[in-house]
Amino acid sequence: ASHASATSATKADELLGGLLLPSFDRNSCLSRYESHQYYRFSPYAPSTYLLRKLREYEARHKKCAPGTPLYAKAVSQLRSGRGTEAMECNYLVWLPYNGLGNRMLSLISTFVYALLTNRVVLLHSPADFDDLFCEPFPDTTWVLPPDFPVENLSQLGLSPDQSYRNLLDRKKMSNDPVFLNLGHEHKFMDKLFFCGDNQVVLDKVNWLLVFSDLYIVPTLYSMARFRDELRLMFPEKESVAHLLGRYLFHPTNSVWGLITRYYHSYLAQAEQIIGIQIRMFPFGTIPVDDMYNQILSCSRQEHILPTVEVNGTTSSGADSKSKAILIASLYADYYERLRLTYYEHAAKGGARVSVFQPSHEGVQATERRAHNQKALSEIYLLGFSDALLTSGMSTFGYVSSSLAGVRPTILLTAHRHKVPATPCVRAVSMEPCNLTPPRVRCTGYAEDKEDLAQHVKRCEDEPIGVKLF
Ligand code: GDP
Repeated sequence: ASHASATSATKADELLGGLLLPSFDRNSCLSRYESHQYYRFSPYAPSTYLLRKLREYEARHKKCAPGTPLYAKAVSQLRSGRGTEAMECNYLVWLPYNGLGNRMLSLISTFVYALLTNRVVLLHSPADFDDLFCEPFPDTTWVLPPDFPVENLSQLGLSPDQSYRNLLDRKKMSNDPVFLNLGHEHKFMDKLFFCGDNQVVLDKVNWLLVFSDLYIVPTLYSMARFRDELRLMFPEKESVAHLLGRYLFHPTNSVWGLITRYYHSYLAQAEQIIGIQIRMFPFGTIPVDDMYNQILSCSRQEHILPTVEVNGTTSSGADSKSKAILIASLYADYYERLRLTYYEHAAKGGARVSVFQPSHEGVQATERRAHNQKALSEIYLLGFSDALLTSGMSTFGYVSSSLAGVRPTILLTAHRHKVPATPCVRAVSMEPCNLTPPRVRCTGYAEDKEDLAQHVKRCEDEPIGVKLF
């Protein structure tokens, strides 16, 4: 199996080693209390220091959240556009950008930045993002109220007037909100964000609007002012998204219904669940036959799928295990082929193999809530796997691996539609890749090469990307 063997794979307790607080209404969010029964691995326990930071965060959030006097004060100062007074509560307004996997990774990143800078995260949550996740913090909300005084948050674009770079150009920093584009487009990325001096300036800004589709945590390790604190919070660097994903994300009861119904109908009986996630990007499409062959040759190389008897039609043997292959993909082709394979051929050793795919939506439709609920359900179902084969460069796959606590095998991308010579590689860690780190040279960023090399590596699936290991 390709799961992390760093520490023993013990089952976590209901509160995930102290990550979660008991003080929630159980029925309002069943997944918070039940998910531990489904995860196969919990390789990393949270550090005492992380737990302390989370409890502090929760207290701060409760004190500063919408509905509190401190929130009202911060909003009225924003509305008046005049105040220069330092505020007790400083905020990060998270703006959704791109697909669900991207959103979950940028949310984890924004939350880490909030832990590092003592801010409070509020979500701009348009209708397509509703009814996906429960409130993560007790007795409060992380949803930005609709009367927030910055209008058209969904239409700000990539470089609005209040963007950090525009303000720097005009040398005009005031108490107005600052829009930070930390998304993947280098052209618009506010890359100076990653420099020490700029962090000092941003410290004084009451409201930061964060627009990003990336997992920037590996890049935060490259910032001198945050590195020590990150080390304390995450003595095991590989555990960041694993722990914070399980801490922050709890599917709502409607999504949890999808997940658990599917799990109990199709997967619960299996002794082993092998999750396969097939993503085809526009820049890397290849014919179904080629992709299917890539999956098979990867499977031969890394021993992922049960092998079949080529001639014989029956097989008996010691390995009469039941194995479920769970496929997540927008398309049905790979499911059809694999299902037929195990219908027509016996698996070596007598393994009983079943093949399942919950949905095949055809195209990405992030603007539709029901579509996103299915996507979230499948991310979680993959997260309950014993072994994972994911698609390179896909944040959907990254989130599944982190939640699962599994180091996946990653199918390499067919850049320029050319089938890669090596079908797949084993991931060095369960951490997501920051696919597009900033290109910037400045003090406080990525100075000590040797020190950095102990934290980050080039991603297996994207040589310009960096990941923690
Ligand atoms: P990425 O584009 O692979 O990095 O992942 P994202 O999650 O950010 O965006 C892809 C989006 O396409 C998902 O959020 C879904 O809306 C949709 N999608 C892609 N693959 C699947 C899949 O296997 N199952 C489902 N239900 N939706 C998918």
